[in-house]
Amino acid sequence: MGRIMNSITIALSKGRIFDETAPMLKAAGIVALDDPETSRKLILTTNHANVWLIIVRASDVPTYVQYGAADIGIAGKDVLLEHGGAGFYQPLDLNIASCRMMVAVQKDFDYETAVRQGARLRVATKYLRTAQEHFAEKGMHVDLIKLYGSMELAPIVGLADAIVDLVSSGNTLNANQLKAVEEIMPVSARLIINQAALKVKRALIQPMLKAFLEAAKKNSVVNMSKVKVQHRDRNLFL
Ligand code: ADP
Ligand code: MG
Repeated sequence: MGRIMNSITIALSKGRIFDETAPMLKAAGIVALDDPETSRKLILTTNHANVWLIIVRASDVPTYVQYGAADIGIAGKDVLLEHGGAGFYQPLDLNIASCRMMVAVQKDFDYETAVRQGARLRVATKYLRTAQEHFAEKGMHVDLIKLYGSMELAPIVGLADAIVDLVSSGNTLNANQLKAVEEIMPVSARLIINQAALKVKRALIQPMLKAFLEAAKKNSVVNMSKVKVQHRDRNLFL
């Protein structure tokens, strides 16, 4: 699909990312003809005969784009950092699906003191690379434990002293007697483009990118008060 010269395939995940991308696609004149929440289809047709959406796991989006199975992808910075970024450009921060990558511990745990005393903490996370880099920068020795979900449980049952996870409202932390103690970085979703696709399909991709840029600017104004957003790389191809 991604290989057909005059068509564009866009990879994204359902849920938060799809919901917040849909208005931006609409601004670019693209409307999905199926709803991924109710349809079981993984390939969604759109009002354009040559534009397809494929619905994949959030963490698989970079892989599809890396290998050119999708030309364009929408993925969180969290996912992009874990993947490493080979094979695609990241020209645009869409300012959607905003949250923060945080270190959190149980409410009665004295993190500051543990850090100061050089305690060797056990940290559970889905984001090994990000966590590894963060604690290395702080000069802390930690034992990382890879989990695939429900990280909030780990400190409660004694699997870990701390977790590294995404936080938006803080409600999940609160409900599990956890507190955020460090912000690692603000996270939002980005548009990514397969490197070869940008070359050979530039005429198709460029106008789409422009429309996304305009829509992203509007999101930026809306979200500015909620989350610090980075604007690096913004005008790379425009
Ligand atoms: P999945 O469960 O398949 O990883 P989600 O829909 O939960 O997919 O998350 C998709 C993306 O939404 C994440 O990669 C992240 O960039 C963004 N996101 C924003 N806020 C949150 C949050 N509170 N928890 C998890 N992901 C979030
Ligand atoms: Mg999830």
